[in-house]
Amino acid sequence: MSDRVAIGVDAGGTKVAGLLVDVGDGGRVLVRQEVATPAADAEAATRTIVAVVRELMAEGPALAVGVGAAGMVGLDGVLRFAPNVAWREFPLAERIQRAVGLPTIVDNDANVAAWGEFRFGAGMGSGDMLLVTVGTGIGGGVVTGGRLFRGAHGFAAEIGHVIVEPNGPRCGCGNLGCWEQMASGRAVGRLGRKAVVDHPESLLLELAGGNPNAVTGPIVTAAAKEGDPVAVHVLAEVGRRLGEGIAGLVNILDPEVVVVGGGVIEAGDLLLEPARLACHDVVEAPEHRPAVPIVSAYMGQDAGDSVAANL
Ligand SMILES: [Zn+2]
Repeated sequence: MSDRVAIGVDAGGTKVAGLLVDVGDGGRVLVRQEVATPAADAEAATRTIVAVVRELMAEGPALAVGVGAAGMVGLDGVLRFAPNVAWREFPLAERIQRAVGLPTIVDNDANVAAWGEFRFGAGMGSGDMLLVTVGTGIGGGVVTGGRLFRGAHGFAAEIGHVIVEPNGPRCGCGNLGCWEQMASGRAVGRLGRKAVVDHPESLLLELAGGNPNAVTGPIVTAAAKEGDPVAVHVLAEVGRRLGEGIAGLVNILDPEVVVVGGGVIEAGDLLLEPARLACHDVVEAPEHRPAVPIVSAYMGQDAGDSVAANL
């Protein structure tokens, strides 16, 4: 163990995952803790984080705590709004710091994931990187000139909430047809349920126990990996929407590399290859710019945590 050990916490709507990380040893994870989030109660959710941090503090001499939270985090560490946890205008960093006695930083979970991939993962060696996390929704993190881009208030890179399909499905933010409704795990599940009605012969129906409504994103991925053409088509469709959105972001940011993380990357190239093709098709003047690699995140589920430890 080096003398630079820190604690990273991924505070999500379903679980609080804490890691004791050796930052001085390339972000090596020493100990992992995971507890369900009492999401309906802001105080209970905070106590859960504090308990996880204290348990990790007992395992090694940590210098600091970094928390990645799924929500809008101000530059002052105040969690303004979390769509899936009851935190509203909640001084999360201050509360944790006071309870555990270690310097504590709270940031948006996709921001810390981006910083993690930049420091230790698929963005290493680049100066300008875009991270797109594709899970239930879509999150983003931007590193530009070697620094995390936060915006004026800390809310930058909420890339999932750009409207790409007016009158499309209702989004958690209240709008219709946000990108995250068209190109996330939720979209994979929705298109899978639709496809299985027209194609009852698909492996999808069998894996869903014969119930079209039971088709989920992971079931589509599993069927596609078995070669089911209907499932492969669904992932290709979602991958295309993903790639079109990435092309727009490439036009804006001109990154060296685009790193795609989140649960949906389980599908691998079944999703990413259609995304690469679509991005190349619609990005401005592809023949006059270097191709931007679209690659999988290295750290998967650990990205947010291990980097939170290093903020
Ligand atoms: Zn939205």
